[in-house]
Amino acid sequence: MFSALQSLPLSVPRVAGESATSLAARLARRNGAPRLITFCSDMGLDHRGLTNGSDTEVLRLAALAGCAPELLLNWTPRLTADSWFRLGRERIKFTAFARTRIRACPTCLAGGRTAHQAIWQLSSIRRCRTHGCLLVELPVTPANKEIFDFAYHATRVRSGSFDTITADESQLENYLLARIQGGTGKEWIDRLPFHVAAQTSENLGALILLGPDAPRDLITEAEWHQAGSIGLSIVFRRATFTP
Ligand SMILES: [Zn+2]
Repeated sequence: MFSALQSLPLSVPRVAGESATSLAARLARRNGAPRLITFCSDMGLDHRGLTNGSDTEVLRLAALAGCAPELLLNWTPRLTADSWFRLGRERIKFTAFARTRIRACPTCLAGGRTAHQAIWQLSSIRRCRTHGCLLVELPVTPANKEIFDFAYHATRVRSGSFDTITADESQLENYLLARIQGGTGKEWIDRLPFHVAAQTSENLGALILLGPDAPRDLITEAEWHQAGSIGLSIVFRRATFTP
């Protein structure tokens, strides 16, 4: 029973913006469990439910971690219906997520930070807001059930194994984060689903930045990052243009 769960004697403080699986993975390591899935089994948590953001499992984890559940729930992508997730105040289709890859900030990793920000699960979020550098993809090919064990993977990465590419703040990333935190506004783009708003901005920006013939698979993360910002700025300029 959830009410019977006591907080573990060895705890880790919740980091702002991290998801339930990130906290669980750190709590597992703190308490000597080799992997998140082992920890879930030992603690009676449903691992699959936790990775899908089940309210019940997130609340059980909050009890084990001894933290307030509201923010943990808010920052955990929660599967609510087929292929859609709830994150903060947004409802987001699975296609906006990159949940089969592990992306992280190279500066966070180098500093020994093993918390994973929930928004790093979104394909169109490409920059660490703390360090102002582009996220990198960890060279791991874990099974699906292990992809959310971020603390485990983060501690196995060799320091300095990634290039750190600094990047300007992105208007698109700021916009998407504002939708997650505050809901949608009244521009026409706000009426588009989250993933469509992101892709429309990025595709428009890529067209302007690189031209119509640029092969999509050769567009770099830095270029997509810049493209999203350019695209969104044009979308907003058009929205306020009166002929
Ligand atoms: Zn960082």
